[in-house]
Amino acid sequence: MKWVIPKTYTNPIYPLKQVSDMNSNTPTKHQVAIIGAGPVGLTTALDLANRGISSVVFSKENSVSVGSRALCFSKKCLEIIHRINPDAVSRMIDKGITWNLGKVFYKDDEVYKFNLLPEEGHKIPAFINLQQYYFEEYLAEEAHNNPLIDLRWQSKANFIAQDEEKVTLKIETEEGNYNIEAEYLLACDGVHSPTRNTMNLPFEGELFEENFLIADITMENDFPTERWFWFDPPFNKGYSALLHKEPDGVWRIDLQLGREGIDKAKELDQERIKARLRKMLGDDCKFELEWTSIYNFRCMRMDSLIHDRVLFAGDSAHQVSPFGARGANGGVQDSDNLSWKLAYVIKGLAPKSLLNTYQEERSPAADENIYHSSNATDFISPKSKISTVFRNQTLDLAKDHLFAQKLVNSGRLSNAFKYLDSSLTSTDNPSDDWQAGLQPGYSFNDVTLKKHGKTTHLIDELGNDFTLIVYGEIPVDVIDLTDIFNVKIVVISDTQNYSDLVDSNEHFKNRYDAQKGSWYLLRPDHYIASRGKVLDNKRIKKAILKATNNSEDYSKSNIKDMNPQHQKDDMYKALIEAHEGLTEEESHKLNAKLILLLMDKTEAVSEWNTIINSAKAIKENNVLIES
Ligand SMILES: Cc1cc2nc3c(=O)[nH]c(=O)nc-3n(C[C@H](O)[C@H](O)[C@H](O)COP(=O)(O)OP(=O)(O)OC[C@H]3O[C@@H](n4cnc5c(N)ncnc54)[C@H](O)[C@@H]3O)c2cc1C
Repeated sequence: MKWVIPKTYTNPIYPLKQVSDMNSNTPTKHQVAIIGAGPVGLTTALDLANRGISSVVFSKENSVSVGSRALCFSKKCLEIIHRINPDAVSRMIDKGITWNLGKVFYKDDEVYKFNLLPEEGHKIPAFINLQQYYFEEYLAEEAHNNPLIDLRWQSKANFIAQDEEKVTLKIETEEGNYNIEAEYLLACDGVHSPTRNTMNLPFEGELFEENFLIADITMENDFPTERWFWFDPPFNKGYSALLHKEPDGVWRIDLQLGREGIDKAKELDQERIKARLRKMLGDDCKFELEWTSIYNFRCMRMDSLIHDRVLFAGDSAHQVSPFGARGANGGVQDSDNLSWKLAYVIKGLAPKSLLNTYQEERSPAADENIYHSSNATDFISPKSKISTVFRNQTLDLAKDHLFAQKLVNSGRLSNAFKYLDSSLTSTDNPSDDWQAGLQPGYSFNDVTLKKHGKTTHLIDELGNDFTLIVYGEIPVDVIDLTDIFNVKIVVISDTQNYSDLVDSNEHFKNRYDAQKGSWYLLRPDHYIASRGKVLDNKRIKKAILKATNNSEDYSKSNIKDMNPQHQKDDMYKALIEAHEGLTEEESHKLNAKLILLLMDKTEAVSEWNTIINSAKAIKENNVLIES
């Protein structure tokens, strides 16, 4: 239930795009279709595009999602966006409110405070607060400018069927309906997922009956940019409250209302909300309502995220309560895990079975998110008298005792899931005797380095495919498979002599337990696939094959040739072969048919005119006009 139009934000309106599919009798086949242009659908489209995979994205809306939705975006989520599009993440961080600190209160007293990022040297903060609509808008802008993404607003996509080769969708628009086909369908269509419903797939879990009032308000005050959470505060006795700063002078306030006898329409009365807020903020505080709503929360999930050619990601696959900020942050981690795997399968760099590891790795992540989110909701709103007694005793003890502080749960905040047991993760070599560092299965950890005397971060040096980080030694042998898998080799030295990148403050050495010759192999999603204390070409090759689910007898001949030059050569060869044995007249006819077909594949008139003009220019001047 929502009302009040936000005053600090005007959402963009995206038009319905004219596409040739609308007038085509036969459905166009796309590599990947994505339903949903929320945080997960947009991130996935951009990640796939970075990997050379085109997609068509459908949103039934004409804009981003306006209203009180995600606010807290985690370090891991922002690191993923940074990998995909550093400009977008810079905009998010510039616009957002950066915070690392939180405080927990019980009744009138501060119980304890926490720092989510006590370690220095990270480019990306522990969290930013940013309204979900900005997050989506920045990604949508990047998607609009990306030639590999065909983003279609005001287009409702309906799953029709799938077979061994394709998925068929029916697209409904105000100007008519049409069908399309895709090799893969990614259902990022949110918690009410029409795809999941049409396919009759269960979505099971727990419904929490507790009601929460969310009020986004504008006010001027000097509260610090910290997360403040109250249990049983004097202004909302018996319940909880949360205060958080947002950009544009907006503050998010969550007030727990209780379980039974809540008349939502009455609770949403503007004067009633203001009275509640005055109790919290004081009579002198001047504020205005920006957006208000009342929510109940559910923790639910699909059993399997993969149904042949249809893969589910984000809220369509699992839903959590907002405590812990695990919804969008978890969904973007799904996208991070899925995109490179799908790209590798489509490019022929990995067998189709690599996709099964999306289920293997993200299903436990969904469980973990639901576990923490349910526990937080239970702690915040205990369901029985005895659990209330335990909860309140814990809070009392937490003022003085660390053991009790650890039990207080106002939301365990989202962080990077660990793929420790994954079949893609190599185990450490026992003789390496690691004392510390990051185990295979962990996400990378950022550090500051010096590059040509200037400060840089490890995150800025990592590749979009595999990255091999080598410490203190330049690998002399060519590492096998580096060309096929486009492995980026990053050499970090402890002195200026080895490489451009210097571990001047020994962050890398200490955090990665590195010595001369130590190496870490990072997957395309920047998770550690393997590591070693001594450079070992065979182990690195084995780890790449394991991380891509390829067999150990894998060789270059197993894969489709993705070298763009080879592809062009092959296309040229096919063209010449098509003309072989034809008379001049037959050749002209074939060319005419080819051109008409190419025209059909070209969507914009302007693009077509540019091609014609380029061809004419070559004829007249023998010079190609670059367009
Ligand atoms: C009050 C509240 C606070 C929250 N706070 C946080 C937070 O701080 N941090 C956090 O990480 N998460 C938070 N969340 C959760 C977060 O909002 C969601 O997890 C996130 O939006 C999920 O993204 P998604 O892309 O999977 O789905 P959505 O954002 O729901 O996007 C799905 C899109 O698919 C479109 N769609 C659906 N059906 C079709 C169709 N047939 N054809 C075309 N398009 C279709 C929808 O219109 C929608 O645009 C919060 C949620 C709420 C309600």
